[in-house]
Formats: sequence, C-alpha cells, structure tokens
Amino acid sequence: MDRFFDTRIEFLKGVGPAKAELLNKELEIFSFGDLIQYYPFRYEDRTKFHKIGEVNHSNAFVQLKGKISHLEMVGAGRKKRLVAYLSDDTGEMELVWFKGAQWMLNKIKVGIGYIVFGKPSFFNGRFNIPHPEIDLLTSANEATSFFQAVYPSTEKLRSRFLDSKGISRLVRNLFSISHRHIRESLSERICNHYRLATKQDALFHVHFPKDQNTLRRAQYRLKFEEFFYLQLRLIKLKLTRVEKFKGQVFNSTKILTEFYNHHLPFELTNAQKKVIKEIYGDLKSGKQMNRLIQGDVGSGKTIVSFLCMLVVIGNGAQTALMAPTEILADQHYNGLKPFADELGLEMAILKGSSKKSERKHIAEKLSDGALQILIGTHALIEDAVQFKNLGLAIVDEQHRFGVAQRAKLWQKNQSVFPHILVMTATPIPRTLAMTLYGDLDVSIIDELPAGRKEILTMHKYDSNRLETFGFLRKQMAQGRQVYIVYPLIEESEKLDLKHLTDGYEAVQRAFPEYRAGILHGKMKAEAKDWEMQRFLKNETQIMVATTVIEVGVNVPNATVMVVENAERFGLAQLHQLRGRVGRGADQSYCILITGYKLTRESRKRINTMVSTTNGFEIAEADLKLRGPGDLLGTQQSGILDLLIADLGKDSQILEIARQAAEEVLTDDPNLEKAENAPIRQQVKSQRKSSLNWSRIS
Ligand code: ADP
Ligand code: MG
Repeated sequence: MDRFFDTRIEFLKGVGPAKAELLNKELEIFSFGDLIQYYPFRYEDRTKFHKIGEVNHSNAFVQLKGKISHLEMVGAGRKKRLVAYLSDDTGEMELVWFKGAQWMLNKIKVGIGYIVFGKPSFFNGRFNIPHPEIDLLTSANEATSFFQAVYPSTEKLRSRFLDSKGISRLVRNLFSISHRHIRESLSERICNHYRLATKQDALFHVHFPKDQNTLRRAQYRLKFEEFFYLQLRLIKLKLTRVEKFKGQVFNSTKILTEFYNHHLPFELTNAQKKVIKEIYGDLKSGKQMNRLIQGDVGSGKTIVSFLCMLVVIGNGAQTALMAPTEILADQHYNGLKPFADELGLEMAILKGSSKKSERKHIAEKLSDGALQILIGTHALIEDAVQFKNLGLAIVDEQHRFGVAQRAKLWQKNQSVFPHILVMTATPIPRTLAMTLYGDLDVSIIDELPAGRKEILTMHKYDSNRLETFGFLRKQMAQGRQVYIVYPLIEESEKLDLKHLTDGYEAVQRAFPEYRAGILHGKMKAEAKDWEMQRFLKNETQIMVATTVIEVGVNVPNATVMVVENAERFGLAQLHQLRGRVGRGADQSYCILITGYKLTRESRKRINTMVSTTNGFEIAEADLKLRGPGDLLGTQQSGILDLLIADLGKDSQILEIARQAAEEVLTDDPNLEKAENAPIRQQVKSQRKSSLNWSRIS
C-alpha cells in the first residue's frame, strides 16, 4: 500500500463529509485503506434461480423469478403490512413488507416480472419472504450470474443509502482509481512457493468474485498475509526478548539426579522427560526462560515443575510455585513436602490466610536464602515478599492469572529476571498457543502416566435418573466417592441455585446411608474449604457442587463425575470437570445428563465428550464450534483483531503462514535482502499506520 491509501475517505467519489462522518463512527472506516480492507462477511450466490415450489427449510437464501399477481395491505397498527404475491410455474410466494409498505405499494407493479432475493421464513405452515430485495426482471440482469458480496452495515448507514449495496458501490468507485496503487506486499518467493494470488487480484476478487474458485483463492491469499504479518511480528518480538534478557545459568543437575535415581516413586512418561529436557535447555542457556507447559489434567505437570526446581536449587538459587487457590496451594505443598524432606530442602507455604508470625519467619528465611521452595497463592507476589535470589518462578493454571500478575513475578529478582514457567491444563493447538501467548515458548505433555484407566463417558437422559442413581450406589458400595455438578450462571443464578439445592436434597433422600456435601460460589471461603476438606477425607461421599470445584483438585478416590444439564456447559468446561475423576487406580466414569431436546451444537459437544478423552482433540473441536474468543476466557487485545482470517477456522493457514514467517526471519532476520523489500515496506507501513490510524478523534 502507498500513501494513496491514507487518503481520507471523504475524498472518495460518492462519500463527502456527512457520509464520511457516518463511516468513521459506524464502521471505523477513516481512509481508502480502511475501505479496501472492509471485507464482506458473506456472499450471495446469484448464479441460480430457485423454483417457488421447491423452496424448503434448507434454503438460507433464495433467488426467485416470477410475476406479481396481486398486492394487498393487510392488518392494522403495528401489524399493518404489504403482501405481494409472486408466482412462477410451480407456485406462489408471499412477499411481506412491514416497513416502507406504502412506498413499496406504489413501486411494485402487478403483472410484471421481478427478480426477488431474500431469506424465506416459515409461518403458519407456509413460506414467505419478509423484506426481500426486489428488482425488475430484465434480460440483462437475468443473464448476469454473479456472486454478490454482502457487507455488514448498520441502521444509521442504511438510512443514508449505505446498505450493503451502497458500500459495494463505494468499493467499486475506489477500485476504479486505485489499481496502480496496490502494491504486492509479499515477496515473489513466498507468492510462488505458496502459490498465492497476487495482492491486486486477491483484493479485487474478495470484493467482486467471479465464482467460488477465485473467491477462495482471494480469501486464502489475504488470510495468509494477515497471519504472516501477525506471526512475523510475534517471532520478531520473541527474538528481541531473547537477545535482550539474560538469564542465570543453571547447569548443575546434582540434586535433580539424586532425586531421579533414588526418590522418584514412578517412571516418568516420555512426554514428561521431553519437556524437562526442553526446560533444562532453557535454564542453562544464559537467556531468560519464558515457557508454557500445556498438559491435560492428570498428565503430571507438578512433578515436572518440581524436577525443574531441583535444577535451580542445585545451583544455589530459590524457587516459587504460585497456584490460583488456597486448596491448590495446599495440595501442591502436601504433595511435594515429603520429597523436599527426603532431600533435606527447605520449603514453606504462604497464603492469604497465613499468620503474621509465619509471614515474618518466611520473610527472614527468604531474604537470607535458606528457604529454597516457596509455594503459595498470589500472596507470593505481594511487595513484602523478597527473595535473596529467585531463580525460577512457576505459575500453575495460567488462565486464572492475568498477564500483569505474571509480570510482577519478573520483579521478584532485582538483578536478573527469574526464569518463568507457566502451566496450564487448557490444551489448545500449538500454533494457536504460540499466537495467543505470543512471547512464550510452548512445551506439550501429550501423554498420560501408564496404567491410568481411560475414563468412560456416558450420555444419559433426565428420565434415566433412577438408573444413574443405581450406578452411583454401586460405586459408593465399593467405597468410591462421586461428584454431581450443576450449572450456575449469573443470568439465571436464583433458579440455578434452587436446582442445586433441590438436587442436594434429592441426593440426601436417595442415599440416606451416605453423607453429601454442597459447594457453590456464594459460600464463604472457609465454608468452601471445610466442605472440600470433608470430601478429601472421605467424610462425605457425595459432593454436590457447581463448577467451583477447583481445577487441579486431586481426590483419587472419587471415581464418578455426574454433570447435570450437561448441554449448558462448554466443551472445555466439561473436559475440565471430567478431569476431576480418573486420578486413582480405579476405573472412573463421567455421566453427562441432558434432556431429550438438544440443539445440534449441544449434541455435537456431548458426542465429542463421549468419543474422546484427548484434551487436544477436544480443544480442536471446541475451537471449531466456538472460535478462539471464548477459549481463554480472557480478551487478548489486539491479537484477535483480525480483518479476514479466523484463528479457529483457519488454523491450517496459520500454521503455513507461521512457517513462512519463520523461514524469512531465519534467512534474513532484519529483512535486508532485496527480495524481501516488499515485506520490509509492509512492516514499515503497518508500524506507521498503527500510529496514523490510531482512532483518536
Ligand atoms: P496435572 O498435570 O493435572 O497437574 P498432577 O501433577 O497433579 O497432574 O499429577 C496427577 C497425579 O499423577 C499425581 O498424583 C502425580 O503424582 C501422578 N503422576 C505424575 N506423573 C506420573 C508418572 N509418570 N507416573 C505415575 N504417576 C504420575
Ligand atoms: Mg495441576
């Protein structure tokens, strides 16, 4: 793109100041460049005509050709509408206008041929088309078969004749003057190697496609380019960071080896070994590590993080492990304390509820370096907590912490930033992780410890409740414990809470010989903790709860997870919940309960859960169903602002574009080669335009 595309939109033929202001306000279109990148959100296939008699429920849109046999105004008041009857040789279709009825009544002529395009809706046992587009049938427009781009517009714009067609006209005006200004923005080598359409063709055909094929090629090229520059930026950022930030060199594996040879109670999985090697590689590199470990629930992330701590401690530095809740922090502490004791290491736990005297004691030992492992909640990042030399900070269940909190950990060592390790049980496809967590390296534990039995998942209907209860009774008779989880969302909180307490009472009635606990987010922290502890100690056998039962909580004796109204949960959530069981040696089960009526999407989610326990497969399915926006629960601003590409649907293109960006930067890190001039130009103009177009008006 050159300066031409910085031209303000009001200077385009057909715009002018008033419309320009609307385009600014409503669509954030400020310049020629903004308009040319205002991509259609769908395309209407105007290449064929439907027969009225054949219109059915599978037609999202139809194009019809026929004559208006008569017109009438019907109804009164708000229901007053114009109905026009269009017929062809197969039947008759009602066309309905509520708005502008009088105007249409004057415009449409009986007995004349029309082309009609619209969305059929089914009402009173027959189809009609509300507010269709209607044009006179002429030999010219009957013959021009074309794909028509549809642009998102708004009520305000439509009232100023900037509906989809109006915008399309503007884009056409723009193309008539911009052809020679559109520059190729990728190198020739990349265009050839990846067989991409040229920039000019792609831009033109994405707005005015001749057919499916040119459209697909155009979209591919533009998506590729968008991902390419996104990845180029991320990779460059990371390279810069790696160059800039030194890390302490930890290369002695003395304590690690001792633990590995004499104390480790099980054999590590190959995936765990691989990840430890990757981390060790970072720790001895002299560069600051920033690494994400993704591993499904139960894949054994904790022990991996502990082994890495041992490397750091073996080199005389300190370590910290931060968990999102007190329950999880306790669990880590209790799980790792015996190991620390065997090795003669000093370890402590710091929580919000820690007493003043404890805090003081910890502070002293931290500052003289005697305390080697500190486990805790975000109490860890408070300013009062000062290490002598923090070498490694680990964050468990990353998605619960903000980037800002992670950044605070960096500050815990004044002389050299500590190495950072982040762990998450929310698996997402690798490339997506690299995009969303931009600056992190990614390690994946894609294997569960041997001997773990696969959790059996079943789908049951509400009406099978007796059968389900019978199953629970059998499991509890064998000494096992069960979870029963209810949905609870803010919008329907009262009703949901009632379902939960009703369910709790029903369970108490059904199983008088066992004890049940209840857990939900409205309870006080101590009450929650107390309930959780009772369940942990097997004082209660049934835990009726909302999703507050913590990610990562480990009760190996719990073997059944029942999810009520399972259709109301997302895939990631169902997967997390299922991960609460299957942590011991016994066969575990997940029972998803729904009503008979299910939407197609809910059915897909339930079927996915029944058919696989692989977190990555589930994540892919989730991504396809929902897109990446919800995946993290957090808005990663900027990165998700894509104009045409879709992180969920276009992950293959993302993969290829990342590879291309890596190749370019490996070969020519500063984009100095002549062949990369177009890329250098584009990077430069993007940097400039992100300043220029920084919508501060
Ligand atoms: P997560 O990845 O969900 O945090 P944990 O670290 O809590 O998983 O590990 C789950 C359980 O598996 C723990 O009881 C842990 O001791 C055990 N575990 C971890 N690695 C192995 C292994 N290689 N073999 C057997 N058990 C293991
Ligand atoms: Mg864990």
